[in-house]
Amino acid sequence: MQTNFTAEQLSDPHVAESEKILRRCVHCGFCTATCPTYVTLGNELDSPRGRIYLIKDMLENGRPADREVVTHIDRCLSCLACVTTCPSGVDYMHLVDHARIHIEKTYRRPLMDRLIRHTLAAVLPYPKRFRFALALAKIARPIAPLLRKVQPLRPVAAMLDLAPKGRIAAYDPNHVHPRPPEAKRRGRVAILSGCAQPVLDPGVNEAAIRLLTRVGVEVVVPEGEGCCGALVHHMGKEDPALDFARRNVDVWTREIDNGGLDAIIITASGCGTTIKDYGHMLRLDPAYGQKAARVSALTKDITEYLATLDLPACEPQDLTVAYHSACSMQHGQKITMVPKTLLRNAGFTVRDPAEGHLCCGSAGTYNIMQPEISEQLKVRKVRNIEATKADVIAAGNIGCITQIGTGTALPIVHTIELLDWAYGGPKPEKLA
Ligand code: SF4
Ligand code: SF4
Repeated sequence: MQTNFTAEQLSDPHVAESEKILRRCVHCGFCTATCPTYVTLGNELDSPRGRIYLIKDMLENGRPADREVVTHIDRCLSCLACVTTCPSGVDYMHLVDHARIHIEKTYRRPLMDRLIRHTLAAVLPYPKRFRFALALAKIARPIAPLLRKVQPLRPVAAMLDLAPKGRIAAYDPNHVHPRPPEAKRRGRVAILSGCAQPVLDPGVNEAAIRLLTRVGVEVVVPEGEGCCGALVHHMGKEDPALDFARRNVDVWTREIDNGGLDAIIITASGCGTTIKDYGHMLRLDPAYGQKAARVSALTKDITEYLATLDLPACEPQDLTVAYHSACSMQHGQKITMVPKTLLRNAGFTVRDPAEGHLCCGSAGTYNIMQPEISEQLKVRKVRNIEATKADVIAAGNIGCITQIGTGTALPIVHTIELLDWAYGGPKPEKLA
């Protein structure tokens, strides 16, 4: 794609990077076929190619974002299916990241939109606040149908719908209990405790730690780590996202320099994609660029790391698993076969739902901010999963687990919970 940026514009490293990305696009449109919003809405401006044109026009003309650009960029899930499909290697992820930052800086959103975004950014990354918000949401759930009738309040109704219906686990800041290895020592890793996952499902990291320690890996949870920054990053809030990243880089760098780490283990693939990008996010920061790149290089999804440990094969189990590959897993981190191979090796029968490349509609806060599109994608995803006739659904991202869980009666668990069970841990509660 031909571009017409001035030398002055290109002196901004963010613009220079976006220009390089734009120039790779050859307008072929292959990406449209796998884009969930184009498949759902059928509008070229809701396809990757359409968005690329909108971003190019906005950046090239040095214009503030307008309502049209914001509408179509907001509808993008950042699922990155287009990145997987694109034959020209267009780095859409960093292009849309830049567009979102530009929107945040130059566009004044309607009041309710601003309020909701501000609230999400102030609550979700902080476990105690998030847990308190979930408790309030449980009480307020009966008014959700009323709120849904008022267009600007639909995100609030979506929030209430997503809150867990059952008991919300007490938030324990030490919910992950690191342990020394039980078998011959094979490595030392840090595990990200994170923000939303320990509130929504504290059992995920417990399962990961149990399995790792059982096979000889020492697991540590360095004090001070927290939200990876993905939630605010996807809202275009660059400064808080970089602050979260710097804090985690500091914590893990201290641990690398003191005890040494073989890996930084992530059990939510949405977080994994962002942390693997810390090196890029902080590349212009002379104090953090190198440290962040080192952290990114050490970051591994739990399944990626387990695959290096050569776990023994287990006896076949009488359980069929529909494996849902989160977009951040398959498109963001290109981890496709490993989780399924581990599950098969652990004795489970694994089935691939049709249209596995399409997002479930979770996508960070997307299911709150774009509830109509998100709901359509969820219904489609659940239909494809249920068609496999599996007994249970497995996924490696808490966002997908929450989203899909609200649309089906099938139990949905984290992949690590099944693996932990197969290798001697307790049966996941949801299968009891
Ligand atoms: S990231 Fe997903 S929703 Fe956004 S343009 Fe690409 S395929 Fe479409
Ligand atoms: S597939 Fe790649 S090159 Fe083709 S239009 Fe989409 S982004 Fe551009």
